[in-house]
Amino acid sequence: MLLPYNEIRLEFDNEISNNIIELSELFHNNRIMLVYDNSNSNDLPMFGVISKIIKKVELPNGKTRIVIKGEKRAKVLEYLNKDKTDEVLESIVEEIEDINLDVEEEKVIIKKLLKELDSAIKDIPYLSNSSINLIKSSNDLSMVTDVIASSLPISLKRVEEYLYECNSTKRASMIVSDTEKERKIVNLEKNIDLKVKEEIDDHQKEFILREKIKLMKEELGDESGNEIDELNEKIESLDAPKRIKDRLYKELNKYENTNKSHPEASIIRNYIDWLLNLPWNIYTTDNTDLNSVREYLDQTHYDISNVKDRIIEYLAVKQMSNNLRSPIICLVGPPGVGKTSLAYSIAKALNRNFVKISVGGVSDESEIKGHRKAYIASSPGRIISSMKKAKSNNPVFLIDEIDKMSSGINGDPRSSLLEVLDPEQNKYFSDNYIEEEYDLSNVMFILTANYIDDIPKELKDRLEVINLSGYTIYEKMDIIKNHLMSKVLKENGLNDIDITDEALLSIIRYYTRESGVREVERLLSQIVRKVVTDIVLNKKDNELVTIKESDLVKYLGKKKYHYTNKITSNVGIVNGLAYTSFGGDTLPIEVNYYKGDGKLVLTGSLGDVMKESAIIALSYLKSNYKYYNVDYDKLINNDIHIHVLEGAIPKDGPSAGIALLTALISGLTNTKIRSNLAMTGEISLRGSVLPIGGLKEKAMGAHMKGIKDIIIPYDNLKDLDDVPKEIKKDIHFIPVRNYKEVMKYIWRKNDWYK
Ligand code: ADP
Repeated sequence: MLLPYNEIRLEFDNEISNNIIELSELFHNNRIMLVYDNSNSNDLPMFGVISKIIKKVELPNGKTRIVIKGEKRAKVLEYLNKDKTDEVLESIVEEIEDINLDVEEEKVIIKKLLKELDSAIKDIPYLSNSSINLIKSSNDLSMVTDVIASSLPISLKRVEEYLYECNSTKRASMIVSDTEKERKIVNLEKNIDLKVKEEIDDHQKEFILREKIKLMKEELGDESGNEIDELNEKIESLDAPKRIKDRLYKELNKYENTNKSHPEASIIRNYIDWLLNLPWNIYTTDNTDLNSVREYLDQTHYDISNVKDRIIEYLAVKQMSNNLRSPIICLVGPPGVGKTSLAYSIAKALNRNFVKISVGGVSDESEIKGHRKAYIASSPGRIISSMKKAKSNNPVFLIDEIDKMSSGINGDPRSSLLEVLDPEQNKYFSDNYIEEEYDLSNVMFILTANYIDDIPKELKDRLEVINLSGYTIYEKMDIIKNHLMSKVLKENGLNDIDITDEALLSIIRYYTRESGVREVERLLSQIVRKVVTDIVLNKKDNELVTIKESDLVKYLGKKKYHYTNKITSNVGIVNGLAYTSFGGDTLPIEVNYYKGDGKLVLTGSLGDVMKESAIIALSYLKSNYKYYNVDYDKLINNDIHIHVLEGAIPKDGPSAGIALLTALISGLTNTKIRSNLAMTGEISLRGSVLPIGGLKEKAMGAHMKGIKDIIIPYDNLKDLDDVPKEIKKDIHFIPVRNYKEVMKYIWRKNDWYK
């Protein structure tokens, strides 16, 4: 149904319509009369809209498209061919003028109408912008009402009413009532939408909250729900300094006033838990009877009586003086020599709790001192975390591997560790997370390191270093029999096992190469596990199983190391001795030379000091070549290459001096050197042999490799007191003051083996 001022588009391809259009074009100035026929009667409607064809297009598919615009309401005065079934109807019509008010009054009504519509537009999305613009620029109420009416989402019936209404003012009030109705409908829809949505949201919100609460409760093991009360009670009964309790009350208050679904709430809650769980004023009572302490150490650890002596001395002095500035014990030695287990035994014997951290590889200050609370997932550093585990304020606190710390981009953990250990500072230790000072002055710190030279100097100054250098084969046998075996049996639930001495010796010699007993312990465990499995699988009685040397292949596989007493003699190969973080070892040095101009080539990852030793050795040889029967031409017209074996392992220190020089002389003079001879000593430019460190460890390492003679600096003779008896029985030590004595010994003694 077309109202005046509106347009419709029609498409058709039937003849009748074509005829109508043609007639209209030819005789009626493009006008046609549109009537709305909704009756079933034969009578045609006598009312309609005179419209104009304003556009006509012949489409490629043969159809015709026209656009018709409504112009005026009109009355049909007469149909010229009355029968409705006729194809083309012609009629005589009379235009009907709208009943209008005067222009000013219309203006007022239009204004009102627009205002009404303005607010309607927001609520009713049906009115198109283009019609709105059209209306706004017009003063003609007839047009305005007809345009609006045909935009409204109303029924055909209602449009018909608009069509028959020739009073524009009335049409305006119809519009107002229609938009009002429409607005109500739209609002109602919106409300319903909103209600439905709210219901869903509420549902979800409640579900999520319930889940959260459930999880929090589970996490806290708290079913009662009265969390704040409980925390209050806990703070009240906490044995802590007043400042800590005050802080806790403050934090609890903050927690109470924070929305629990907010992340801040769990940060505060976490912090409260930390403060609540630290041992502020909890102490264990020390066992002051040092005799019983000594007894306990003897029970748990074989031998190492000098180590135990020093520990007892240390404890005695500490007890007497209660001196805050007393140094801190640092146990130094290769892995598996019992540093950790000794510290644990000290704690047990003193009736103190025990905690341990390892700082090997730590390069970040925050690992020691924690992260600020502001970080997500921030937490205290390892010191405070361990104090929580210790559950008392005065535990024995083992800090492992202090020689393996390094300084990284986030501060130097070594200086933080100093704060921890310094008796003047550690009373007020402050962790970044905890913020409140924590008193560490009652803690008994024990440190461990593998290699003394790698301990940072500022730390070393405060330490009481106690060396544990490793065990001889016989000591290892005793440790196994008296301590490790029963421990391993207990761990695996076996009553007893019989491993023969030959089998044990073979495990130590051919399956391990270590200063300590960790690897041996592991292998014994492996054997016992296999025995237990066999008993369980084959439902055997728990009879005593005997393990002989010949059974080892079955339990441990093929031998891993060779231990040979076979002696060879070689030109240009000499055994030096090294002392590393794994204990002592031999350090084979090779020399070769070839045509050149006297250059010295050094390989084997040597440090600066060791390189200088090689240069000193060569210089000494150049100035004393005659004495050692070296052809001077060889020294001048050759390049000399020195290589220290196991090239990938870094080596340094001056103690290889005499071994480097001996290798040079051997290589250049074709003198054979025995493979069971080793030497250690620094050489000076004028040939003096100067003392070295770690003789005990080096001797033990050499012993494991089957070395029979070791040339040592004369000034190290006193250190032989520390070398175990069994080793002194097997190895002959030759003290020398200057290098000439080294070669004299070799020239003399090599004859024996020729
Ligand atoms: P470290 O800390 O020096 O690397 P551990 O303390 O871990 O070595 O010792 C390794 C194993 O060797 C432990 O089971 C320990 O009980 C045992 N052990 C080491 N030395 C002895 C000893 N002298 N007496 C008894 N057991 C020892």
